[in-house]
Amino acid sequence: MSEQVIAIDGPAGSGKSSVARALAEALGWSFLDTGAMYRAVTVEAISRCVDLTNERAMGQLAEGLTLATLPRVTVNGRDVQDELRRDDVNEGVSIVAANPLVRAQMVRRQREFAAAQSLGTVVEGRDITTVVFPEATLKVFLTASLEERVRRRSSEGKDSVERRDVADTTREASPLRKADDAFVLDTTGRSVHEAVEEIVQWLKHLTLS
Ligand code: C5P
Repeated sequence: MSEQVIAIDGPAGSGKSSVARALAEALGWSFLDTGAMYRAVTVEAISRCVDLTNERAMGQLAEGLTLATLPRVTVNGRDVQDELRRDDVNEGVSIVAANPLVRAQMVRRQREFAAAQSLGTVVEGRDITTVVFPEATLKVFLTASLEERVRRRSSEGKDSVERRDVADTTREASPLRKADDAFVLDTTGRSVHEAVEEIVQWLKHLTLS
């Protein structure tokens, strides 16, 4: 792999999006929020009344969509950014993300995105360090206490966060798990700035050694 990638995984509310976004900005790299992609597919399926549990129908939908995440998340040109955290999307996204046909389409798009960037990309999700970019320049696994993660996702609620955690770590297709060679960062009680500083230090260390 020629492109530079920093891969970040972790459970809901561990700080992935905030940290990855700020890290990308600090480095002048691109940023890819892969959770937003699974959420966008879910939004589109719900609005087309596609059965989220129908593997083939969902796979076909994911294959045919035009999806963009920057500057805002769009599906076939329609801005869905403000719909990504709806309750029904929080409920349905883990079902959609457990579908291997949908995952194959998302992984393909994620690799294409990184390959098209002139500098590097910071990519965050659940399977980025283990499946999408196992050869990434740097791999990070973010954690935080359940209390803090639920506080950060206060609009979603504890039950929903816990349900997604269980679904994401126990599913058959690319479950969330820490890659053996990932650096672990507990963001409990840490600011985004502190987390970014730590990751930049690891990156310097790796690229200088
Ligand atoms: O990161 P976020 O909470 O927005 O992700 C929403 C959902 O998308 C996760 O709960 C998970 O089911 C799915 N996801 C995934 N693989 C990724 C990113 C997100 O399965 N790389």
